[in-house]
Amino acid sequence: RAKRTGGGYAVFNAQLDDLPVQDVELLAALHHAIPRGELELHFQPVVDAGTTSVVGHEALLRWRRPSGLVPPTDFIALAETAGLIVPIGRWVLGKAADAVRRGVLKRVSINVSGLELQQPDYVPALARVLADTGIHPHSLVLELTESTLLDPHRLTTVLEDIAQLGVAVALDDFGTGYSSLTALASLPIQLLKIDRSFIAPLEARGPAGARAFKALRGMVMVADAYGLPTVAEGVETSVQAELLREVGCTYLQGYLFGRPAPLEWPGSGDDREIGR
Ligand code: C2E
Ligand code: CA
Ligand code: CA
Ligand code: CA
Repeated sequence: RAKRTGGGYAVFNAQLDDLPVQDVELLAALHHAIPRGELELHFQPVVDAGTTSVVGHEALLRWRRPSGLVPPTDFIALAETAGLIVPIGRWVLGKAADAVRRGVLKRVSINVSGLELQQPDYVPALARVLADTGIHPHSLVLELTESTLLDPHRLTTVLEDIAQLGVAVALDDFGTGYSSLTALASLPIQLLKIDRSFIAPLEARGPAGARAFKALRGMVMVADAYGLPTVAEGVETSVQAELLREVGCTYLQGYLFGRPAPLEWPGSGDDREIGR
């Protein structure tokens, strides 16, 4: 297999040769996105289900192009194919930690791809960001999806190292994969994020709504059994919020409480300040 190096990160990318031409062009443009300052983080509040006070924010990546703002669903998978997600993830981490260091955010969650965790220097880099910024490890949460948890053996070591640093790990999109229970039983995870696909149908009439409610209740019961707090994603209506309180969900996140938005503070657009 061809092994090339992109931006200093060795990746297996035999798959790149098979990409459609528009993806190759997108990748070439994405390669320059960081140095050109085209990446942005938008932050969405997470609130306490009971009091609705803001307890933290999730950082969501955006790519500003001449054609408009590109959502992560349009380029993250491609960035993973090419290994570009590694430098992008480092940028996200640095930028999010910097927002905490400046006192703009008190707690921030970032989405981490499996390829990032597979880098032998991921944990040292995380430790360095904590040391350089001086932020409290509890102010950082790493959100991992089940697909991230592919190689459970190596992953356990990495997650234990992350826990050792005092940084929390959330299992993202809970309920959408197959190995959730195995993951919960064996991995050091501190938080469960219930996927939006379980929240959206809650208000459906008839059996669909009732089924969604039961599934949700089941997930919160599982979380309780493991002593884990839950975050519900994609909460859009006060009826959904009320049902989530009823089942005992700990935190809520969604358009009802705030859309993802850029932070406004002096120097927030200045990428040269990142990584000090
Ligand atoms: P996710 O982690 O499940 O993030 C939640 C998604 O739901 C976000 O989409 C958010 O904007 C959207 N959302 C939040 N509240 C609501 C709501 O009330 N209603 C609806 N309909 N949607 C809501 P977004 O920002 O497009 O991100 C999509 C996915 O891209 C994320 O899903 C995450 O898996 C990935 N992603 C985002 N930023 C990063 C990043 O920095 N690194 C990596 N590796 N992946 C990222
Ligand atoms: Ca997430
Ligand atoms: Ca989700
Ligand atoms: Ca996700």
